[in-house]
Amino acid sequence: MKVLVAEDDVTSRFMLQSLLQKWGYEVLTAADGDEAWHILTGEEAPKLAIIDWLMSGLEGPEICRRLREREQTKGNSIYTYLIMLTVRDEKKHILTGLEAGADDYITKPFDAQELHLRVGAGKRIVDLQEALRFHADHDTLTGLLNRRVVFEHLEIEIARSEREGHPLSIALLDLDHFKQVNDTYGHLIGDEVLRDASSRIIQQVRRYDIVGRYGGEEFLLILPGASRDEAFKIAERVRKNIVSCPFSSGEIFLSASLGVALYNKASSVDEFIFAADTALYRAKKNGRNQTSF
Ligand code: GH3
Ligand code: MG
Ligand code: MG
Ligand code: MG
Repeated sequence: MKVLVAEDDVTSRFMLQSLLQKWGYEVLTAADGDEAWHILTGEEAPKLAIIDWLMSGLEGPEICRRLREREQTKGNSIYTYLIMLTVRDEKKHILTGLEAGADDYITKPFDAQELHLRVGAGKRIVDLQEALRFHADHDTLTGLLNRRVVFEHLEIEIARSEREGHPLSIALLDLDHFKQVNDTYGHLIGDEVLRDASSRIIQQVRRYDIVGRYGGEEFLLILPGASRDEAFKIAERVRKNIVSCPFSSGEIFLSASLGVALYNKASSVDEFIFAADTALYRAKKNGRNQTSF
């Protein structure tokens, strides 16, 4: 786990860094408050930080306040666990630090063992929170993004496509005659097949494509940058990967139908989905095991 050490005193910073490394953390350092802010608000920011009170640039409490404010406004951003580290040991200072949004408070000179335990407590909170977040965003059976999150991604990708002028396509996939799988082999085998089908979908999309479970045996693929032809090709790759070999130790043959749609500026999210749904309906009507647009 990544930890930020924001401390302007070189000796202290170095000591904290080597201790944390010894305890197995990946350490990032900042020598002043502005650098700390930059790291904490950047991409792949650490979720746990030890922050000195007195530093040039932004001071510790101000960093805490601003981060908490930012977490409020950016509703879905992940919480950063903040440990304030300072020589200020009077009660009123401790209260000010906690009020600013620090989760914990350690006074200098600090005891290494105590710091180790307090950082460990912070890590437990961060890990727990990430696990909760994962469960909230993913479908339990397949591990794919759930419907709510895939819709959020769709809105983001629509905005990006409008901003950058790149095409955006989606594909709606529905497994063919899936009810028969349940009816013949039972629900548990059905679940296993759904999981395997999800992996087969993932195997064939590009790294930056987004796949979510849209409904029971329906999946939504968001294909940023893909024209309708490119989307068709990806959809066909996915379909072929599903029919290519049987599921569940060789007994179950399954196919899928897909409907592809290209985003057009005038349409809403619902209309976009509806276009893919209509195409999917066509694929079903024309005999299943095919992609339509
Ligand atoms: P079509 O080719 O027209 O799509 O036929 P179908 O049988 O796939 O479609 P239908 O909508 O009639 O049935 C979907 C089936 O998917 C019924 C439902 O029990 C099954 N299903 C949905 N979610 C799950 C799940 O989480 N696990 C299992 N095992 N089955 C599921
Ligand atoms: Mg200082
Ligand atoms: Mg269906
Ligand atoms: Mg189906």
